[in-house]
This record gives sequence, C-alpha cells and structure tokens, in this order.
Amino acid sequence: MQIEHGSNSLRAKITNQSAILKIIYYFGPIKRADIADRLDLTLPTITTNVNDMIAEGIVRETGICGADGKRVGRKARLVEIVPQARHFIGIEITGTRRAICVVDYCGKVLESYYDSEHCVDYEENIRKTCGIAEACLSRLHLSWQDIYGVCIGLPGVVDRAEGILKVHPGNQWINKNIRADFKQLTGYEGDVAVENNACARASGVKLYRRELLSDVQSFVYLFVDRGIACPLIVNSFHYTESVVGAGEVGHMVMEPGGARCSCGNDGCLEAYSSDRAVIDRCVEAMADGKASVLREICKEDQRPSIAQILAAQKAGDPQVCRIVEKAVYTLGIAVANIVNFTSPDTILIDCKLFSEEENRKLILDTARKNLCNKTYRGVQSVFVEPSNDSGAKGAAAVAINMCMQ
Ligand SMILES: [Zn+2]
Repeated sequence: MQIEHGSNSLRAKITNQSAILKIIYYFGPIKRADIADRLDLTLPTITTNVNDMIAEGIVRETGICGADGKRVGRKARLVEIVPQARHFIGIEITGTRRAICVVDYCGKVLESYYDSEHCVDYEENIRKTCGIAEACLSRLHLSWQDIYGVCIGLPGVVDRAEGILKVHPGNQWINKNIRADFKQLTGYEGDVAVENNACARASGVKLYRRELLSDVQSFVYLFVDRGIACPLIVNSFHYTESVVGAGEVGHMVMEPGGARCSCGNDGCLEAYSSDRAVIDRCVEAMADGKASVLREICKEDQRPSIAQILAAQKAGDPQVCRIVEKAVYTLGIAVANIVNFTSPDTILIDCKLFSEEENRKLILDTARKNLCNKTYRGVQSVFVEPSNDSGAKGAAAVAINMCMQ
C-alpha cells in the first residue's frame, strides 16, 4: 500500500508540474496566485513547483505587477518561460519540398532552411534532411545534445505512437520508420515525434496565433497542398489533438463518376481542388492552345506554379478563371459538408488560392449557401497565409508540446 501511495503521489506531482508548466507557457507572464486559480491547486503547491522550475532554469521571475501594470497595491512577481532554456527542431518533408527550423522554447525561429527540390526517393530524402538539420545546428553552434525534442511532419497516414509513416500515397512511401531512421542517421537520442503535416500546422496555429484559439473548443484545419487534409482538433487545455487523424477529406466524393483522382476513384475533392489538380487542368488547357495569358506568364515552363496561375486569373485569362472557380467552388461545397458534419467553432483555411480576395469571397459564399441552416450555429472562418516554413514551425510546436506532457 505504501508503494502504491508513493507512486500515486509521484504521479500527482508530475501531473501538477506538467499542468503548471503549460499554464506558464500559454498564459505567462503570470502570477503564482493566478496559476493556482486556473488549476484549482493551493498556492504552496504552485510555489513549490515553480521554485523547482526556476532552479531547473526553465522558468524565471519577471517584472512587478500591480493593477494595470502600475506599482500600486500589493506587488506580485510574474513568472514566465525562459526562451533560451530549451531548443527544438521542426521538420516538414514531402516529395517536393523540405523545410527545417530550429526554435527556442517559445517557438522563435533561430535558424531555418527551405528547398523545393523534387525527391521522391525516401532513403535519399531522409538522408539529405538529416544532413541539412545538422548544418542548421552547426550554424547556431549547437549540437544534438542541445536539442530537447524533434518532430517530423509528413503528408499521409502516421502512427504517432510508433513514429511510423504508414502510407503516403503520393510518393508510395509505405511503412517507413521515420523515428528510427532519423535517430540512426543523426545519432540523436532525445524524443522524436512523427506527425501528419496538416495536424502539425494546426498545432503551429495554437502556438503562434494563440489569441485566435484561446476561446475555441474545437477547430478544423483545411490544408490544401498536393493533397487535401482537414484534421478536427479538440482544443482543451489538457488535450489538443486531432480526433480524426489527418482528416482525409481529399477523397470525399464530390461528383460520382467525375474527374479521375490519383487514388484511382472518380470525383474526389482532390481531383478538383488540390494544387496538383489545378495545375494539371491548366497544363491541359495550355497543351490545347488555350490559356494564352498563362502561357505568356509561364514562358518556357512546362508546369505553372499556383502563383503564376493566380497571376493569369488576375489578368483575366478565361480558361484559368474557369479552372480556379471550379476548384474554389468545389472546395466551398466541401467546407459546407465539413461544417455540417463536425460543427467546429473555427475553420482555418490554408490554401494558396486564397491569397486572391475574389477566391475568398467565392468559397465563403458557396459554403454559406450550402450549409444546413437548421443545424448551423455559426463558424469563424480564418484564412491562413501560406508560407514555406509553416509546416516546419508547426512540427516544432508539436515537439515543444510533446515535452510538456
Ligand atoms: Zn481520391
């Protein structure tokens, strides 16, 4: 009984420490008394744990707090995370790009790398990635021993517990032991998380735009890339995780018998609205001698980029306008279906087509017209500005969270 009691106490202490650290992380700088209020723990419990964290160097006291920041009334010291206390690495790998960042404890990017080199050979890709991560560390005069946690984000179905990529259909990467391969190639001995890259981006929003999600209990993150994913995130203090894995909405059938999808089925969302589908349609139009504005913009390029396609849309290329409108309209129907089904507080939309205002308007109008008005309770729609490093920063956020459990 004595042993069991002891282990329960230890477990309670670890749980308290983890909860206190998270409160300081997400709400700091904060007073000890406010931590006690938020967690319903006693002030002595908070003080003991915070003192341990200060001694460990991960938390520090800062400033003097009074009403409205003025030095009036009883003074209380605030506590906050020490940014330099720990370092993490976030990595995003796909068959067409690589993004790596080294961040401090607060997620500030200290060093980053990006390339858009096509590399569908898994062994070559992971080897190059490890070499680039090492180069990033050496530029910061850090070694693997200085890294507290790593997360690797990839498209596809991921077994997070085992650190295995089960399948990435686009590249035919099947049952790749990402965690073991990364550790073997780098000699890194710390924790390595493996996460779907859409889920990692959702974690990134929680870390980097926390004001957006502070009162949000659930949100979906619609990520349009070569494929389309839409994780549904339950966003409580103790639990922030997708309850549907990557949320593979890309293979939701939008038109039975419609356009052929890369999965072999017909009429999937991905076959209309993914980057790959939009680019493929434009390439077909150019090959037919159409889309003259886009042909002019592309010059000698065989495959236009989404940025070039948007430029042609803006210049009024009729074929390109039709292709983009079809992609956005179909995505709008998909958004209505997703909201009808999951009823999230917020939908975050990360898709390059929405750097154009008219495309934003079309998707929101289409979604609104197709929502079930009997059950719809309102949803906040937010367009996320696509950026080259958001996948790596999202992975870094997963690594930081992993080390607070
Ligand atoms: Zn499909």
